[in-house]
Amino acid sequence: MRHLPISLDLRDKVIAITGAGAVALSKTRLLSKTEAALCVYGSEPAAEFVRLASEGRLRLVPRPLTAHDLMGKALVYAASGDAAEDARIVSLARASGVLCNAVDNLDASDFLTPAIVDRDPVTVAIGTEGCAPVLARQIKAEVEARLSPNLGILARVAERFRPQAAALPGGSARRRLWSRFFADVGPRALDNGGEPAAWRALETLAAAAQSEESKAGHVHLVGAGPGDPELLTLKARRLLHEADVVIYDRLVSAQVLELARREARLISVGKTPGGPSWKQDDINALIVAEARTGAQVVRLKSGDPGVYGRLDEEMDALDAAGIAFSIVPGITAATAAAASTKVSLTRRGRNTALRILTGHDVNGFVEHDWRALALPGATAAIYMGVAAAKFLQGRLLMHGASPATPLCVVENASAPNQTITAATLGDLSEQMTAAGVSGPAILFLGLAPRRALAAVATLSPSPTTALAAGGIR
Ligand code: SAH
Repeated sequence: MRHLPISLDLRDKVIAITGAGAVALSKTRLLSKTEAALCVYGSEPAAEFVRLASEGRLRLVPRPLTAHDLMGKALVYAASGDAAEDARIVSLARASGVLCNAVDNLDASDFLTPAIVDRDPVTVAIGTEGCAPVLARQIKAEVEARLSPNLGILARVAERFRPQAAALPGGSARRRLWSRFFADVGPRALDNGGEPAAWRALETLAAAAQSEESKAGHVHLVGAGPGDPELLTLKARRLLHEADVVIYDRLVSAQVLELARREARLISVGKTPGGPSWKQDDINALIVAEARTGAQVVRLKSGDPGVYGRLDEEMDALDAAGIAFSIVPGITAATAAAASTKVSLTRRGRNTALRILTGHDVNGFVEHDWRALALPGATAAIYMGVAAAKFLQGRLLMHGASPATPLCVVENASAPNQTITAATLGDLSEQMTAAGVSGPAILFLGLAPRRALAAVATLSPSPTTALAAGGIR
């Protein structure tokens, strides 16, 4: 970085501009936005300068600048449009130690004027050290489009409110107040009711910040549901909207994450099967560390946090750290999958009990009470069962389950790429391979999709084949 962008205080300062023609005029327009007094030198001043001088907007000296004129000047712009005259000014400036900008002459200049996005008192300076003026203009256009024209007003309101904000408890409550104000509350209030409304909005936020202080460093362990953002609870939605930090698992869908507050920090702690993973201890430590900063932390888990969510380990870590937490239940994959297949999980006369099983845990395939599961009418929702499907099939058949036992596999329940595969225990692995099930899936033992059930009654002997055309594999 050859040039350092700094902000120069120009209150009560004088800037000299030499040359009183077109080049000087464009610099004058920019510099007249500052609080500096402008002094323009040139023997044949353009009419515009005469007018500006008559309006008292600048001082016009109708002769070339001399060494003496540089006394007490903060900056000088050599802007005559004439290379020799500009070079004379540069050497005068050097001799008197006044910083000089020679227009369009990078090497002769002590400083450059960056492209500026002006939302006074907020300014953005864009410089490319003369390398790519077009790029600077592009960036300026992008920033101009991003920043509300009213940003400056908001900043001034914020400045006036600063003493009140200083009375608030410090740390994250105050930070949250400002980030909410600038992100959405302030611009909206300003649009609707001008500056007074923006002020009132700040007062409301400050009152909320006072009461939030009692919630310091709270963790919400929140169920994100199976993927469809409409299957979030209202509470989960609200908490996402209020979160400072969202720590989320791999299966939490992008659409759900979209609902987090714009300024919230999103931290993925996904455990990819077979890929790089976060260790549970590290996740626990992260949640505790974030909560200790006073942040409102949402620990977002797919489905329901209490179903294969390693919830207890996180609760234990929070208890050990003395951090308050709450649990927000979510729609677990089994109920979402049941809804997708239009079957009820229990049904009078069919099954009065439903087991929740996992095919897999940290030690590999999991053993269960296979004998009980092999009995006619046994019903189970099996999580993490895709890789274990062949193992489950073998164990159940070995313990006497009928190969005709219905099974139903729901992959990516509630998501646009959801698939439903109807099978029997006898052909489970073939059907899953044929369907290419690879995503997260629930295997229902003892349940068939509703349409499969109807079809079985009329279309024996090969329900799965007969159903292919009906949208269920
Ligand atoms: N807490 C989650 C379960 C996490 S364990 C819940 O309550 O749903 C991860 C397993 O959940 C996956 O292997 C899969 O069996 C199941 N799962 C999660 N999301 C799913 C989805 N959208 N469709 C089908 N199964 C899903």
